[in-house]
Amino acid sequence: GRPWETTKVRTTCPYCGVGCQQLLHVRNGKIIKVTGAEDGAPNKGRLCVKGRFGYDFIYSPDRLTTPLIKSGDGFREASWDEALDLVAGKIKEIVAKHGPDACAGISCARSINEDSYQMQKLFRVAIGTNNIDHCARICHAPTVAGLAASFGSGAMTNSFADFAKAKMFYITGSNMTEAHPVAATFVKNAVRNGAQLIVADPRRVKLAEFADIYAPIKVGSDVAFINGLMHVLITENLYDKDYVERCCTGFEALKAKVMEYPPERAAAIAGVSVDMLKEVARRLASVKPAILIYTLGITEHTCGVHNVMSCANLQMLLGNVGFECGGVNPIRGQNNVQGACDMGALPNVYPGYQRVEDPAARAKFEVAWGVKLPEKNGLMIPQMIEGLTTGTIKFLYVFGENLANAEPDIRHAEHCLASAEFLVCNDIFPTETTRFADVIFPAAAWSEDDGTFASSERRVSRVRKVSEPPGQAKPNWWIFKELAKRLGHDWTSNNGQEIWDNEVSHLAPILAGIKYYRIEEDGLQWPVPSLDHPGTCIMHQDGCFTCGQGRFMALDWTPPAEVPDKDYPMVLSTGRRLFHYHTRTQTGRCLGLNDLLSEETADISPADAARLGVKTGEPVRVRSRRGEVKVKARVTEEVPPGLVWMSFHFREGNANWLTNPVFDPISQTAELKACAVQIEKA
Ligand code: SF4
Repeated sequence: GRPWETTKVRTTCPYCGVGCQQLLHVRNGKIIKVTGAEDGAPNKGRLCVKGRFGYDFIYSPDRLTTPLIKSGDGFREASWDEALDLVAGKIKEIVAKHGPDACAGISCARSINEDSYQMQKLFRVAIGTNNIDHCARICHAPTVAGLAASFGSGAMTNSFADFAKAKMFYITGSNMTEAHPVAATFVKNAVRNGAQLIVADPRRVKLAEFADIYAPIKVGSDVAFINGLMHVLITENLYDKDYVERCCTGFEALKAKVMEYPPERAAAIAGVSVDMLKEVARRLASVKPAILIYTLGITEHTCGVHNVMSCANLQMLLGNVGFECGGVNPIRGQNNVQGACDMGALPNVYPGYQRVEDPAARAKFEVAWGVKLPEKNGLMIPQMIEGLTTGTIKFLYVFGENLANAEPDIRHAEHCLASAEFLVCNDIFPTETTRFADVIFPAAAWSEDDGTFASSERRVSRVRKVSEPPGQAKPNWWIFKELAKRLGHDWTSNNGQEIWDNEVSHLAPILAGIKYYRIEEDGLQWPVPSLDHPGTCIMHQDGCFTCGQGRFMALDWTPPAEVPDKDYPMVLSTGRRLFHYHTRTQTGRCLGLNDLLSEETADISPADAARLGVKTGEPVRVRSRRGEVKVKARVTEEVPPGLVWMSFHFREGNANWLTNPVFDPISQTAELKACAVQIEKA
């Protein structure tokens, strides 16, 4: 348009996994305003405060604009050729000396699918290792593993459109109002229209105000609580026998296990009354279907995979999977964490969840990519990071992740990063993690490249470029392509569309029917097996599971790895707040959002505040076995006595100085939701 004209460019929000469609109002090449897209957009014109006002980070003077190479205690500017040659040379040297598995890469769940596809290809094809992972490891890896085991597919079963229509909700471990705000508005609309809402959560999250029943279950008691619910459903004959017989296997083993959790035992573990537990079970059975929604309160535990499978057990027992307004619905935290999984930025699967260890899948990708591929699964992020200190990993490539603030036990994470023989980062800003880099590549941001994101509801939507990256910053896929070229691989695709249309959708059957021309307006929800397929709003239709029959899992409750004792008598749990996003690399550079929330607090109950003699705004010291932080107290009824709640948004007062680096043995997801702390007036 002409300088004074405003054009509207439709794109996808760069924050959470709801995938709201935005209209960027662009004048003179700059975004001047953002509004919500209506039409067929899943957000129906709505945006939250981050989606509406959180765009000015792209104009921040802090942007990285030129490749940087470590020099003494700092960095010096370099040309692209020099920096790329240095990194490619280092990869060759390390592979020659230690083999390809001494290299590892962490992809980015904030960037477009095409970037993640290209990065996993760089590692698998040009370096020769499956050591590629991304931050689903720290959030929803238990979902991918747990739901794949129970249902055959590890993704949200239903759609956000169902949230507005459902008649019964069971929401657990999810503070949707702050972490997925637009999705929460649909839940509230449904409740106003008569839907029933059950919230099970250690915190009295905002949605609890709208709930028919709020069950204040203890941190880490989920398997016991759900086993108790299933005990009531089975003994009172309230479960869906026909569905269970027709669609599921493993019922007898489930029943035997659940009988070990009578309501009295389950309620005691969960810290709620027996009557409340029974009431939750009976209510759930009274409306069909009920929709189950969860987020990281379920997954970020040492028993995260078991928690996810428990949610699947409950919904299969009620006969709720495979129907509109039912299903098991994990909401993804990041805009493209679903997509980064779909693209195979995982150590055990190629794009489209085709298994690395399956010889047929491997043979297919060997033909497509023209190389011999490594046969065994790669390492997961905690193993990569630990490998930096043990020397098994010499080269780490971190793309758009701020591990130094986001990993549990920051002190330990930083020690590991400092131990890397060679660390490379792609980013849009200097971060606490890029401090440890040997080379930093400056990258294009969200509105500076064309591509796609996949939201929680498996919807692949377009992301559009409105301006050039600043200075010499380049698209991430280009950086990976240039490195591959220096490692002897000439790749032809030369933009997001070519990568998607010519490679991704050819190689991943669940995405075969998605081409850019089909998603120029509304996105499509996978599986989309062919070009005339309309997409899949509801998976496992009528109980026909991807794996044939749904699989009940008989599960025992296990407590968190660290529980309160006399030295550390309180539980710390963590999460996100409304006005910021993760480690604030983006929202920390949005003026309005910083004004709305500019520092961390420790949220404690009025009872604990009275005991400690502190009021809101007064400083407290929170200490764990890993470290301590000094923050202001926020006294709130949201938190029960004995619990401290903090986020990881701010470097000062980051909960991860305190969190426990222990991991789910199956998914290697950290127990960020539970550790033991002490707190005192500072
Ligand atoms: Fe963006 Fe999520 Fe807010 Fe929607 S709800 S505008 S996707 S941050």
